[in-house]
Amino acid sequence: MKIAVYPGSFDPVTKGHIDILKNGAEIFDKVIIAVARNSEKNAFLTVDERVQLIKESVKDIENVEVDSFDGLTIEYAKKCGAKVILRGLRAVSDFEYEMQLSQANSALSNDIKTIFLITKPKYNFISSRTIKEIYLNNGDISKFVPEAVYEFLKNKKL
Ligand code: ADP
Repeated sequence: MKIAVYPGSFDPVTKGHIDILKNGAEIFDKVIIAVARNSEKNAFLTVDERVQLIKESVKDIENVEVDSFDGLTIEYAKKCGAKVILRGLRAVSDFEYEMQLSQANSALSNDIKTIFLITKPKYNFISSRTIKEIYLNNGDISKFVPEAVYEFLKNKKL
C-alpha cells in the first residue's frame, strides 16, 4: 500500500490545499493530511479547529485521513508507514524553501522522498496568509476556501 503524508499548517485549509490533496489521492492508495502542531505559535486557528475543518472539507474523498503531529515530519511519516511526503508548489517563490526542506528531510532519512504537485493556475495566488488578510479586512473569501471554512469563519465573526 502506497501511503503519502501531506503535512502543513493549513491555517486555514484552502481550495489550493484541497486541489493538491485530491490529486495526491488519485496517485497514492492513502494520503494522510496532517497539521503540524509546532505551527500553533502565532496561529490564527487552533490545531483542533484546523483538523476539524479539514475533516469536513475532505469527507467525500475515501482514501484520505486527517491527523495532527508533533515533531519531525519524517518521524511522523515513518510512524504512518509512509514513504512519501507530499507538498504543493505554486510559484518559483515556493521553490527555494521547499527544496531546502526536502533536502533536509532526505539528509535525515533517505527512505522518505518528497513529491511535489503543482497547483492549478486558478489557485496559484491562494495562500492561508492572503485569506486571513482578506477575511480580517471583511473581504469575501468564499471563492478561495472550502464551504466548511467559509461557514466557520463567518460564524466566528458573529
Ligand atoms: P507550511 O507552513 O508547511 O508551508 P502550508 O499550510 O502553508 O504549510 O502549506 C502546505 C503545503 O501546501 C505547502 O507545500 C505549500 O506550498 C502548499 N500550498 C499552499 N497553498 C497552496 C496552493 N494554493 N496551491 C498548491 N499548494 C499550496
